[in-house]
Amino acid sequence: MPPVDPVPDPEPQPQPLPPHERQLEVNPQKDSLFYDGTIPAEIRDQIFFYSVQEFLKTDEASIWPINTRYTRPGYSSNRKVDISLLLTCRRIYLETCHLPALKREHVFFHGSSTAPQHQSQHTNNFGYDSEVEYFRQLQPWQLALVKEIHLFTQMFWLEHTFVDFCQQDFMRNIERLKLTIRRGDWWWNERNHPLVIAPHRDTVQHHFCVAQMHQDIAVQGRGGVTPFAEGAWGLAFKHLPSLKEVEIEFETSDDKKAELETIVKWAKTWKFPLKDGLVLSTEGLGMTTTSWQSPYCYWSHRCPYCGSHSRNHCNSEGTPNEEKCAERSSLRLSGLGPTCYMYGLRWRVAQAADAPRDEYPEIERLHLQEPPLQQPPPPQVP
Ligand SMILES: [Zn+2]
Repeated sequence: MPPVDPVPDPEPQPQPLPPHERQLEVNPQKDSLFYDGTIPAEIRDQIFFYSVQEFLKTDEASIWPINTRYTRPGYSSNRKVDISLLLTCRRIYLETCHLPALKREHVFFHGSSTAPQHQSQHTNNFGYDSEVEYFRQLQPWQLALVKEIHLFTQMFWLEHTFVDFCQQDFMRNIERLKLTIRRGDWWWNERNHPLVIAPHRDTVQHHFCVAQMHQDIAVQGRGGVTPFAEGAWGLAFKHLPSLKEVEIEFETSDDKKAELETIVKWAKTWKFPLKDGLVLSTEGLGMTTTSWQSPYCYWSHRCPYCGSHSRNHCNSEGTPNEEKCAERSSLRLSGLGPTCYMYGLRWRVAQAADAPRDEYPEIERLHLQEPPLQQPPPPQVP
């Protein structure tokens, strides 16, 4: 058999120019109110800006069920950016094409039971397939406009995957990263385990972890510094070359509020190392507190106030917890869950030794009163 010449590799095809870079004639649209001098340019910009804002869809198929671990104030249905305006004419397209990728919230929920349907099909709870798939759909010029990302994520993902995640290409332009740790995202929340978090350690999923955390808190309280262990999630931020700000939201239910406040007070002292002698610091930055009434599924099977295993009967008669147990029963009968509290802290880039002051030093206190519109009936209890 005669030798077969190898098939030459095809010439790499140049990427087509994005529409806004093509040299095409642009109609100045001088007959339009937007461009004939009637509407000032700055007002036109505002109208265009608001026209492409992301919104929560209200059709029945888009609204998320209320009694889930991901539905919450601000996150209650699928979202959409209407791009009809961009399709009007070339001139408007050139002025607005950057807005959808720049201004929408690029938000991801992790976990099969803690993410809405469109993000929960991925079976690997330790991965970030949703993000890979989402950013793959963007053109390179659109991806370059993505500056912010918001993750609702569980503690095990933070410890196992976050360092690797921050080294992915789609994170290179991220300037603002927000993490939300929900009530159900803490280690062993289903067993009512004490809240524990340790950005300096490679993992906290061991029995001694709570004591270890309180030891770290005590060291910090005496002015000491806890070093970062190799692989600790607190080291992940230094892989983000464009990072300017991090926000972490810490959430728990009413029964664990005091535990969370201890952690948040400690978290305010965390300094995450970056490159070139820089750190992320909360110095001079405020804190936000919000609360909301969670849905029924947020209750653990065991009463958090008296420890009763019975779904209907508590053991706290005549004890200081009696009132809380009664409140729990009443909320459950109404199909509601516990009040949840959320504390938000921000970190900004600063010199390791000398962090700048912020223009918002005051604590902002918000209270989100957004009870679900329709309550599902409580499940039948045998
Ligand atoms: Zn009880």
